[in-house]
Amino acid sequence: AKDDRISRISSAIRVIPDFPKPGILFQDITTLLLDPRAFKDTIDLFVERYRGKDISVIAGVEARGFIFGPPIALALGAKFVPMRKPKKLPGEVISEEYSLEYGTDKIEMHVGAVQAGERALVIDDLIATGGTLCAAIRLLERVGVNVVECACVIELPELKGRERLGDKPLFVLVGST
Ligand code: AMP
Repeated sequence: AKDDRISRISSAIRVIPDFPKPGILFQDITTLLLDPRAFKDTIDLFVERYRGKDISVIAGVEARGFIFGPPIALALGAKFVPMRKPKKLPGEVISEEYSLEYGTDKIEMHVGAVQAGERALVIDDLIATGGTLCAAIRLLERVGVNVVECACVIELPELKGRERLGDKPLFVLVGST
């Protein structure tokens, strides 16, 4: 059943306090990857949700969107597009800035990776404030892509990232604190 799968996924995620700095409860998905059944359940739940939705682009946010995105893309017969940290992509890029607690960061995508009118899913491991996902959405929408939904394994609901996404739908497997 779906609930068994969700609880297996939830128990496979390790929480490490005070990483990378004091006060942060780091949600570590590397332990989920060590459990082949829980990892497969994670991918299956996403694939079941998006199959038949005519999605041609899976946009994965660096770094952990690069782990969950590709198996979903392969199962759906969609392309995988990496949304990378600055200065990593070798070709011509477009970039989008977003604000952090202190300062700003950027994500970049190759020009020509996606075409106007394509239907995309944006995937990352976790939504906190939603700043990263918002930047990914803006980047794709700037080139005319229709972002159908965002998907994450984990949501930190108290940070209200879902509100920051406005009316863009967000699908998550587990909520955490
Ligand atoms: P945000 O842009 O605030 O939604 O932050 C989301 C990004 O930061 C994702 O790429 C997450 O992997 C990472 N992140 C933020 N908070 C945590 C946390 N508590 N545990 C693990 N990753 C986190």
